[in-house]
Amino acid sequence: MGLAAIALAPGLALGSFLNVVAARVPLRRSLVSPGSACMDCGHEIAWYDNVPILSYALLRGRCRSCGVHIPIRYPAVELVAGLLFAGCFWKFGLTGSAAVAAFFCLTLVTVSATDLEHRIIPNRIVVPAGLIVLAANTALHPSPKWIIAAFAASGFLLAAALAYPAGMGMGDVKLAFLMGAALGSSVTVAMFLGMVAALVPGVVLLVRHGQAARKMGIPFGPFLALGSAIALFTGPWLLHAYWALSH
Ligand SMILES: [Zn+2]
Repeated sequence: MGLAAIALAPGLALGSFLNVVAARVPLRRSLVSPGSACMDCGHEIAWYDNVPILSYALLRGRCRSCGVHIPIRYPAVELVAGLLFAGCFWKFGLTGSAAVAAFFCLTLVTVSATDLEHRIIPNRIVVPAGLIVLAANTALHPSPKWIIAAFAASGFLLAAALAYPAGMGMGDVKLAFLMGAALGSSVTVAMFLGMVAALVPGVVLLVRHGQAARKMGIPFGPFLALGSAIALFTGPWLLHAYWALSH
């Protein structure tokens, strides 16, 4: 518990950085310069207005210079990243597995943010992350299961994307590769939960808009990310419970 508490602050700070990544990578802008600025008026954000969550609360969600609303997504990304980061060290201790899990979680938060805002899961994030996690997990726990899960999960979504191009994109396929590399056999739990979770807004849209809803794609990435986070923290336990219930 102490370790998780210590990990919370750097987790929040990393979340703040992920906001920069999520805002700039889809626009192909530099991550380091210029410094953080208001997206609306361009006013440079001072360090004391850039403290994770706290600054958002103190500024009541507005730019100090022009008063424009800061999207709730910014503190939300910081909070979720901080909690997941701390959670990885709580669950896995001070280990290599915790580092891989934390890296995986931060990537999930980032691609969820870009998928929600721009409807894209950037190649420049998800492809290197998938390869890094695959190499790290294979080195830490030598087994072919990581690469098998990565190809099985991405192959499954590739088949789904080919069969129903409106529903899923190639970004989701690459995200599934990362999920398999990170989760091994638990990726089945993540995919199942992600699909079930995505059904909820899907049904709401269908009820509200009828046939027109078929053309309104919902970003699938955040649901896959949610399923992944649950699978990561419950892991084999959920898989075993499922098997026990179904047999
Ligand atoms: Zn402003």
